[in-house]
Amino acid sequence: MIIILLGPPGAGKGTIANEIQRRIVIPVIATGDILRNAIDKNTEIGMKAKNFVRSGKLVPDEYVIKIVENRIKEFDCEKGFILDGFPRNINQAKALDKVFERLDKKIDQVFYFEASYQNIINRLSARRVCTKCGTIYNLKYDPPDKAELCHKCNGKLIQRDDDREDTIKKRLDVYNDETLPLSNYYRKKRILTKINANQDVIAILKDIWNRLAELGIGENRNDYGNYKN
Ligand code: AMP
Repeated sequence: MIIILLGPPGAGKGTIANEIQRRIVIPVIATGDILRNAIDKNTEIGMKAKNFVRSGKLVPDEYVIKIVENRIKEFDCEKGFILDGFPRNINQAKALDKVFERLDKKIDQVFYFEASYQNIINRLSARRVCTKCGTIYNLKYDPPDKAELCHKCNGKLIQRDDDREDTIKKRLDVYNDETLPLSNYYRKKRILTKINANQDVIAILKDIWNRLAELGIGENRNDYGNYKN
């Protein structure tokens, strides 16, 4: 099962990716996480990507395409994976099609998250991420038990550098100009399902589980993990 999550920053793709991963046990490949990790570790790719990520611009295609191509060839991706944050423009989507052609794989489903501008701003400015395990919190809607500490691993919670207001605006411009056209690209291939990402997590999961059930995956549609009814 190969799933792509497409949508603006702050639409909830990361949260939903983790829930899909928990349920159907396939890895999440989040290019933003891979790049932030590389930046923290000061690797060659991290040093090249740093200024792009900090300023909310796209990292050049050649780097991200290579990262994704190498990652999906790993053993744990054999049964499928979830792409979160890739592809981000038409060039990356076409490169991905070529890689899949070579590897004899196909995209099963693209979930296209639509959220209002105000919701995106509210979510991103209140988003905090655990520095140890990556769990995502929202200070308003899904606050941690203890201020600034992860309730799963006790790691420190931080605000991402690029979740500050001026960078958020830049990221949304980049999204509208470069990433949004991908919705038409995948709609034409008839693999796109639109998700109303203004809803709460449980309602979004209901829509996703229903679609996956239509595709023959997952029977229990009432499994919302940590997000209880
Ligand atoms: P994200 O965590 O998906 O919001 O990504 C954070 C940042 O990483 C983006 O603003 C870009 O600078 C960079 N990035 C992530 N994925 C890609 C991609 N597919 N292509 C180019 N840059 C990316």
